[in-house]
Amino acid sequence: MNEVQTVVVGAGVIGIAIARKLARQGHDVLILEAEERIAQHTSSRNSQVIHAGIYYEPGSWRAKLCIAGKIMLYDYCKDRHVPFENTQKLIVAAEENHLTKIPVLMANAEANGVNDLIHINATEAVSLEPALACRGAILSPSTGIVDVPAFILSLLGEAKAEGAFVALGSPLERVVLQNKGFELYVGDSDCTRLNCKNLVNAAGLGAWNVARSIEGFPPMDIPEQHFAKGSWFSMTGSAPFERLIYPVPDDESLGVHYTRDMGGGFRFGPDLKYLNPPHVDYAMGVDESIAFENSVRRWWPDLPISMMQPDGCGIRPRVLRDPNKQSDFMFLSPPDHGIEGLVQMFGVESPGLTCALAIANLVTELLERPIN
Ligand SMILES: Cc1cc2nc3c(=O)[nH]c(=O)nc-3n(C[C@H](O)[C@H](O)[C@H](O)COP(=O)(O)OP(=O)(O)OC[C@H]3O[C@@H](n4cnc5c(N)ncnc54)[C@H](O)[C@@H]3O)c2cc1C
Repeated sequence: MNEVQTVVVGAGVIGIAIARKLARQGHDVLILEAEERIAQHTSSRNSQVIHAGIYYEPGSWRAKLCIAGKIMLYDYCKDRHVPFENTQKLIVAAEENHLTKIPVLMANAEANGVNDLIHINATEAVSLEPALACRGAILSPSTGIVDVPAFILSLLGEAKAEGAFVALGSPLERVVLQNKGFELYVGDSDCTRLNCKNLVNAAGLGAWNVARSIEGFPPMDIPEQHFAKGSWFSMTGSAPFERLIYPVPDDESLGVHYTRDMGGGFRFGPDLKYLNPPHVDYAMGVDESIAFENSVRRWWPDLPISMMQPDGCGIRPRVLRDPNKQSDFMFLSPPDHGIEGLVQMFGVESPGLTCALAIANLVTELLERPIN
């Protein structure tokens, strides 16, 4: 029987960041990844934005980890020469009745410790971004973008340099609790079985299946499962804005926004559609382009007609679907579920990329927590 000290399930940005942190602390780490390549799901299907921490409920994991993770991510990129850009962003009130949301957002950000937002009027906004039409806006100086593949490869390189291994094409299918530790059944070509002392579930959209596959894990500790799909549309031409442009958010998402990437490309999205029942479906239809154009034209009136083409999509894993309450990340550690050496994560949607390094620190600490 193969033995390893710590298994991390999932080679997305979260699993790789955790593996790096644990390996640096001296753990002998194996990452199990179901796909034949790393980061094929949510970690390669996001807006690549370093979020400031404006929107999330004060005191939530998303708020706390975003603030901490943003600082760590900027520092990491500077130290390791991972390409990033502190683009800034404008949150725009396109219509008069959206203006009331600006002080609410500013107060929420302040409560989260984001103290650098600037409330600007329409003239000031247009002087920054001449193509924009709005009634007023918030300038967020600390928002930026990062080269996500470069960030993930850098984390992986460091994890491997500290001795971590990645097993690709290795879906975790079943877990049996042992006296101290776990027996894992892996669905690779060799039907590998291995023992480990610690297990971290960082399987993203697959986190619920992994939790259900742990024999003896209390089913009532597995949260609701919701998949919220977001699609992007793009067009050719030169980027119309220097800063990222977001409308004021609605109850369930940040709204269709404009982001740039490190390669000079730009796109609009993501929107939000729940997949019922939750399943992975990355198909896209061109017919949504009209809705996208109408949405963007509210703050970019000169958007050329019928120029948008589908440009990818991603799926947000969520533990709550309630328009009146934000879903949060969920971490279950030994005192929560009573199983030593096990940390389960659910609902690591946006801003998970921004939070990755801070989540890695948190999980490392949670893993050590005794049951009582
Ligand atoms: C539309 C959208 C836009 C976003 N934009 C941003 C943004 O701009 N900024 C930001 O900070 N965050 C953003 N996010 C959030 C961010 O992308 C995620 O929080 C982050 O990528 C989650 O990473 P992960 O490692 O948890 O998940 P994933 O990248 O999905 O990785 C999970 C891995 O687990 C593997 N796996 C699953 N089941 C098993 C199994 N049984 N055995 C082995 N392996 C398994 C999967 O194959 C996958 O590789 C966005 C998300 C979405 C959907």
